[in-house]
Amino acid sequence: MTSQVHEFQAEARQLLDLMVHSIYSNKDSFLRELVSNASDALDKLRLAGLTDKDLDADISDLHIRLIPDAEARTLTITDNGIGMSRDEVIDLIGTVAKSGTAELRRKLAESDKSTTEDLIGQFGVGFYSTFMVADEVTLVTRKAGESVGTKWTSTGDGTYTIDDVADAPQGTTITLALSDVDDENAVHDYTDRYVLRGLVKKYSDFIAWPIRMLGETPEPAEGDEPATPAEPVDETLNSQKALWSKSKDEVSQEEYADFYRHISHAWDAPLETISLHAEGTFEYQALLFIPTQAPFDLFMRERSSGIHLYVKRVFIMDDATDLMPEYLRWVQGVVDAADLSLNVSREILQQDRQIRAIRRRLVKKVISTIQEIADKRPDDYRTFWENFGRVFKEGLINDADNAQAILKASMFASTHSDTEPTRLADYVTRMADDQDVIYYMTGESRAQIVGSPHLEAFAAKGIEVLLLSDPVDEVWVGNVPDFDGKKFVSIAKGVVDLDGDEDAADTERDEAFAPLLTWLGETLSDDVSEVRLTSRLTDSAACLVGDEFSMTPQLEKLYRASGQ
Ligand code: ADP
Ligand code: MG
Repeated sequence: MTSQVHEFQAEARQLLDLMVHSIYSNKDSFLRELVSNASDALDKLRLAGLTDKDLDADISDLHIRLIPDAEARTLTITDNGIGMSRDEVIDLIGTVAKSGTAELRRKLAESDKSTTEDLIGQFGVGFYSTFMVADEVTLVTRKAGESVGTKWTSTGDGTYTIDDVADAPQGTTITLALSDVDDENAVHDYTDRYVLRGLVKKYSDFIAWPIRMLGETPEPAEGDEPATPAEPVDETLNSQKALWSKSKDEVSQEEYADFYRHISHAWDAPLETISLHAEGTFEYQALLFIPTQAPFDLFMRERSSGIHLYVKRVFIMDDATDLMPEYLRWVQGVVDAADLSLNVSREILQQDRQIRAIRRRLVKKVISTIQEIADKRPDDYRTFWENFGRVFKEGLINDADNAQAILKASMFASTHSDTEPTRLADYVTRMADDQDVIYYMTGESRAQIVGSPHLEAFAAKGIEVLLLSDPVDEVWVGNVPDFDGKKFVSIAKGVVDLDGDEDAADTERDEAFAPLLTWLGETLSDDVSEVRLTSRLTDSAACLVGDEFSMTPQLEKLYRASGQ
């Protein structure tokens, strides 16, 4: 095929535009992105080489190389990894395939400059970050096992050019024609070896593959004419240590944060790091991160797990869904299991006893870590809850074994405070001596619940009520009967026994109102099953209640929306 000019997909163009105009202040991070991609490509090739004996590719010396050229003002990054086919280049580099792009676009449209940076941080820009520092980017790649390579070039202006290349080496080479060094924005000179060494050390030290660079050509000493000119020496810039095999006190926060960003493709720092080393029947190491910020696609189905699975340091797969339940899909990390086959497939994982045991342990550890954060770091806990609380609560529906632990690590809005949600243990300490259940009401929003007549008597008597307004709340309160032995009771259902006299026998009153109740019952018989007197209300004249086993209006809506 000959040279072709393509247009970037609309989302991609928008991201590119942001990069070219480089609102992101941390331009150095382009190098981390490229090294990260190269490392992924090497992981993939090694696995393919180990599991596919027919693959025609050399996996004996997998590495990354940086080639700075000060005269030409270029920086080249190569890897001899898996490479890309022509179609893959068009697919992967010309489009933003990530879910959540539409969401990003919407948010970008309504954001101002200061938050744009933040948004990009949450989304991650990967390969396009090269346009923060380069006027033109050229990518040459050949996929392992294929004979013809592909060249991709763009100046980031909306189009890119694709050519066939007959003699491309196996893997991927990316050459950046660097923009002029800009003192005002303090951009580094990326042809300076000293700068490059520092950046690799800073962002990519843990990368499992050697990142090499030829050192400066040694200057011959004055007046000394050597027979053969001295050769520059190849140096390896990173220490390649696998952070998950180290104990927590051997690794700095910064190293963990950079590793977290590498595997999660996020730009924030982890809120908490969990390191587990299990020995015995099942030997494995795990390094897990609780992110600070929620990714854009948290509520989209495609993003199902942030766990990367390794077997004895060999990368096997990311998105290892069997190692973390969906309600913990925002947990990022690595599990390195000692006794699995490299050929392990998703189907096998699903059945594997070892994987199930690891998962059980990881889940308990994540939940107890959240409890600890809740106990000791209220601000961090609030951050966590705002980002992930809604997803975390899905566990109350799907993970009965851990429901009590999840409740302990959760917080809920309540009538106790307009702004501060409460943990259930705190609710319990505020209960009056004669209160033995936890009252709640569900609805579409706090405002809607608070405006409900059902609350009147509770407010009048100073009894705290949980205000549950997430769609998931509707479902879990029907599933989890109690917290720590205290039943959850809806104030909108059945007969609520408020201080023992609720709707209790009061013969005189009953007789006085009997004719009215009969008349109301007959008149409204199409709409209600019963009309009764209540002490629930203090200001309103009447309210509708469901019987103890009926669906709430919100749940009815939820079922209707899901087509049931
Ligand atoms: P991400 O890494 O988050 O997927 P990027 O924009 O960094 O996003 O890269 C897009 C895709 O392009 C990668 O997922 C990968 O499939 C492909 N890619 C990028 N760089 C390389 C490389 N050096 N070798 C092989 N494939 C690559
Ligand atoms: Mg990437």
